[in-house]
Amino acid sequence: MTRTIVVGGGAAGAALAARLSDDPDREVTLVEAGPADGVYPPDLLDASGIPGAVTGHPANWAHEAHLAPGRPYRVARGKILGGSTTINGGYFVRARRGDHDVWADAGGPRWSYDSCLPVWRAIETDVDFGETALHGGAGPMPVQRYGGGPLASAFIAAAVARGHALEPDKNGEQPAGVGPVPSNVRGDVRVNTGLAYLEPVRSRPNLTIVGSTTVGRIRWNGTRAVGVETDAGELDADEVVLCAGAIGSARILLSSGVGPQGPLSALGVPVRSDLPVGAAFADHPDIAVAWRPRGVIPDSADAFPFPVALHWDAAGREGTDGDLELLLAARPLEQLLNGSADPDADLQVILGLQAPTGRGELTLQSADPAAPPRIDYRYLDEASDRDRLRAGIRETAALLRTREFGVLCAGLSDLGEAELDDDRALDDWMAARLGTAIHMCATAPMGVVVDGAGRVNGVDGLRVADTSILPTVPSRGPAASAVLVGEVIARAMHAGD
Ligand SMILES: Cc1cc2nc3c(=O)[nH]c(=O)nc-3n(C[C@H](O)[C@H](O)[C@H](O)COP(=O)(O)OP(=O)(O)OC[C@H]3O[C@@H](n4cnc5c(N)ncnc54)[C@H](O)[C@@H]3O)c2cc1C
Repeated sequence: MTRTIVVGGGAAGAALAARLSDDPDREVTLVEAGPADGVYPPDLLDASGIPGAVTGHPANWAHEAHLAPGRPYRVARGKILGGSTTINGGYFVRARRGDHDVWADAGGPRWSYDSCLPVWRAIETDVDFGETALHGGAGPMPVQRYGGGPLASAFIAAAVARGHALEPDKNGEQPAGVGPVPSNVRGDVRVNTGLAYLEPVRSRPNLTIVGSTTVGRIRWNGTRAVGVETDAGELDADEVVLCAGAIGSARILLSSGVGPQGPLSALGVPVRSDLPVGAAFADHPDIAVAWRPRGVIPDSADAFPFPVALHWDAAGREGTDGDLELLLAARPLEQLLNGSADPDADLQVILGLQAPTGRGELTLQSADPAAPPRIDYRYLDEASDRDRLRAGIRETAALLRTREFGVLCAGLSDLGEAELDDDRALDDWMAARLGTAIHMCATAPMGVVVDGAGRVNGVDGLRVADTSILPTVPSRGPAASAVLVGEVIARAMHAGD
């Protein structure tokens, strides 16, 4: 019997623990910092809101961070079974072929698009397409698109009027364009990975789910991981797999002496493997552009609040995966986060830079594993990121001002010619509204910190399997990619890699 500890039951960890426990010869213990009894507060299941994203919600880690100098920020992350999929927006879109090319370069052929297509299909039950050569019909995660309602229709018409292509299936293989967003929302419920992957297998004798227990450090015998230290005591294992997310896994690695020699030694942390953990993470900067509705806009009956997205190339190249995203919010962000909003509230579209060149840094501030890490995003440091965001804002303004969208839109709320016609003024406008999509990846990238099977370089018995290992942030939201990582690493472990 191999004893495997999985740390963190989020997007990747829930999938990995469920798949590993398919093997009766493996004893799997999943250790999750948040509650893990499978009972969810109703507000976190209701797909029409995202209250878990608000600092202060008990299911949110709310890590302190800096997006840019003078821009402090609290980064939401889920602290409950299902991890961030329990508190997120429910957008569940596959990575693109170009993303797979980057992953395969770093981690080998098991990460190519063609190798992963069967895995993508195994993850999902696509309610719209059913079982096809591209889609799955029997996987744990429901995938459904909700492109209805007058707002979504006007947005699509406006994007087409601006010359963008239609992209009816964002999990398909067409070039980037405008189309409905695949979601893991079924009816009114945001189906998190705990519900989808773990509840059906919870009673397996070889799977133990330990909730409300936080892992501090890896326990070592030399450079072999032999278990974990938690706030409730020590656990032994033959192998430990970190699925604590891009912040959590990096923090555990660093606290355990897997990280850059100089800074760790300066903090008094004994170094087991000198690796650049946290040195160059990637995330999607985003900016909400507000607009004034013309009268009361009839809401669609669907719970999923992000029905349509446009992806396009900032440089105007056709046929690409797109490096900008414009996500339509069907209800005011204030309402999605806090449950209610002024009836006259403005609405928003959210512009995201999907292929940023800028990189952030996550470092340890103390040898105490309970101390929070320091997180510096360094957004807007790179000229190419600022250029593409400016181009994105200008295209967003043009789209919102089309005749097609003007049926519903009386104008932009706080963006005018003074900003649109002047790069410096637009930079100031963007900097004041800068946000993050909370899609952090690449704190322990493949090809650098881990190999293509998630094994940490320079030590034994330790893997990472979550968005930390992606070499950069994918060009779409990473929730589906995180589940894929759990599935792919589970397959590698089953294969004895
Ligand atoms: C508010 C919000 C909205 C988002 N919206 C979307 C969206 O709509 N679409 C999209 O594609 N992506 C979205 N994302 C991002 C997406 O949800 C994440 O990228 C994805 O869930 C990451 O998966 P993961 O497995 O790497 O980490 P997570 O899902 O965050 O799971 C990590 C798990 O590890 C646990 N953990 C952490 N540290 C420890 C420890 N020391 N000991 C024990 N357990 C620990 C955590 O509690 C958590 O359960 C959103 C994220 C947030 C926070």
